[in-house]
Amino acid sequence: VFIALEGGEGAGKSTQSDRLAAWLRDEGYDVLLTHEPGDTEVGQKLRRIVLDPATGDISHRAEALLYAADKAEHVDRVVAPALSRGAVVVTDRYVDSTLAYQGAGRALSDRELERVARWATSDLRPHLTVLLDLPPQTGLTRFEERDRIEGESVEFHERVRQAFLRLASAHPEHYVVIDARRPIEEIAAVVRERVEPLLEQ
Ligand code: C5P
Repeated sequence: VFIALEGGEGAGKSTQSDRLAAWLRDEGYDVLLTHEPGDTEVGQKLRRIVLDPATGDISHRAEALLYAADKAEHVDRVVAPALSRGAVVVTDRYVDSTLAYQGAGRALSDRELERVARWATSDLRPHLTVLLDLPPQTGLTRFEERDRIEGESVEFHERVRQAFLRLASAHPEHYVVIDARRPIEEIAAVVRERVEPLLEQ
């Protein structure tokens, strides 16, 4: 079973990924908790390039390809092997982040980006995506220091938010959208409720 958590800055994705993984472990599942970008050795280097404000300007297509390279490495070396051994994989960000940030955020073609992302991931798709939805202003105030992307305008982050919501409404059966301003425990309970039936299959 493959589960992705998605959402904008400061939505609580890593908190909820941790909660979900801890619960699954308590239930006796073999769990792999991972994230993008930067879960592999090469991925960490790519993450530094794309997120360090000192990197400066990168062409939008080059930026998208750096994220795609991180994804390919992540899927080939981490996600796919864990799924084949029967683990439940929980990832903090996945393809939707690319479609939202590089697509809507950077105004690259959705269709082309989707092809690149599907190729990079060998079209491996999550059974469920948890979208933690939050107005960008609320999320961004949670940070003092901002990386290259967090430093983008509120309009950029609003485009990202709308793109996530569009992806979720296009395939509602594969998504659960949760207001990220709700209390942590409540959100965790909603997530568990949606994940549980997937485990029984
Ligand atoms: O989720 P996390 O904080 O680790 O993400 C790191 C940064 O990478 C965030 O600023 C996020 O906006 C950015 N990002 C991106 N495009 C992706 C994935 C992450 O711009 N496809």
